[in-house]
Amino acid sequence: MKKYPYGRQCIQQDDINAVVEALSSDFITCGPRVTEFEKAICTYTGAKYCVAVSNGTAALHLAMLASDIKSGDEVITSPITFLASANCAKFCGANVVFADIESDTANISASEIENKITAQTKAIIPVHFAGQSCDMEKIYDIAKRNNIIVVEDAAHAIGSDYKNTKVGSCKYSDMTTFSFHPVKTITTGEGGAITTNSETLYKKLLAYRAHGMHKDGDMLTDWRYEMRELGYNYRITDVQCALGLSQMKKLDSFKARRRQIVDFYNKNLGLPHLVEKDFSNACFHLYPILIENRKEFFHKAREVGLMLQIHYIPIYQQPYYAQFGYNPADYPNAEAYYKRCISLPVYPDLTDEDLCEIVKRIKEIL
Ligand SMILES: *Cc1c(COP(=O)(O)O)cnc(C)c1O
Repeated sequence: MKKYPYGRQCIQQDDINAVVEALSSDFITCGPRVTEFEKAICTYTGAKYCVAVSNGTAALHLAMLASDIKSGDEVITSPITFLASANCAKFCGANVVFADIESDTANISASEIENKITAQTKAIIPVHFAGQSCDMEKIYDIAKRNNIIVVEDAAHAIGSDYKNTKVGSCKYSDMTTFSFHPVKTITTGEGGAITTNSETLYKKLLAYRAHGMHKDGDMLTDWRYEMRELGYNYRITDVQCALGLSQMKKLDSFKARRRQIVDFYNKNLGLPHLVEKDFSNACFHLYPILIENRKEFFHKAREVGLMLQIHYIPIYQQPYYAQFGYNPADYPNAEAYYKRCISLPVYPDLTDEDLCEIVKRIKEIL
């Protein structure tokens, strides 16, 4: 019996050729392919600057560092997201404040964000859940009025559009972060990136990516460099970026297929699912359905080769986060969503026959 994971990379011969070529070139890291990959992301998203990094978590961490997030600051994010969206604030000693989701999109709610703002709020990290953009114009407006930085966590959303702009353009944010883990829409194995339109933020991101080192002014003429702040090694290699460049060329075709798959499920399953707003044209990363008896369904699905996944356990329920005293009753929509959600397979290599087979198996175990 054929097994179906919820997500999977799409690697073709030209991707393999690109990686092999990079391996036999002069630079396997810190070379021209890193710059080219960053340029490709700028061209695609419309952002002025891009910094490619070792993974999506590093991208979020760098965005927090560039925002000067410190101990005592508050960072608002969604409870229904991958751990990294919250952990990146903890890396900087900040307090994570969760704002509840909208029940129809599972995206963070702009009005809930507004309710959670205090004098300590320094940043908001809206997560474009399942690939659909949050209502960024609303969120950015709230943030600007309160002098708060906005970092879009677009790990799910490369290729997505919001009000006819690409996610990552930073039209309604200060920075946007991406992940290129194999379950995401395009992959570099492990990898990530940050886009921004601010030269100041761009320079900070570059420095924090490489140990806090600066080489500018007089130093450009000789061997000197200065470490002005504590940075990290969050570099990505040319081998990874060769794959990233090759994958970027396919992003629009991946998106078209992902949208077809979602359309197919919407039409053929008849099960409650998230809705797409008029302002969105999403490159869907996930297709969560909402189902009663979810636990039973999860196990039955495994028996018929459907390796489904739950996205996500609300972060405040994690044992590490329990020490900060969150109250699940403050997040009724997240609780209701988590009780029923389960993600079906979405990836470009699924054929029409696969989709029919998946729907048939789901109907059998319902
Ligand atoms: C995958 C993911 C990340 C982290 O990306 P990595 O590349 O795995 O470090 C961050 N946020 C969200 C929402 C993700 O899905």
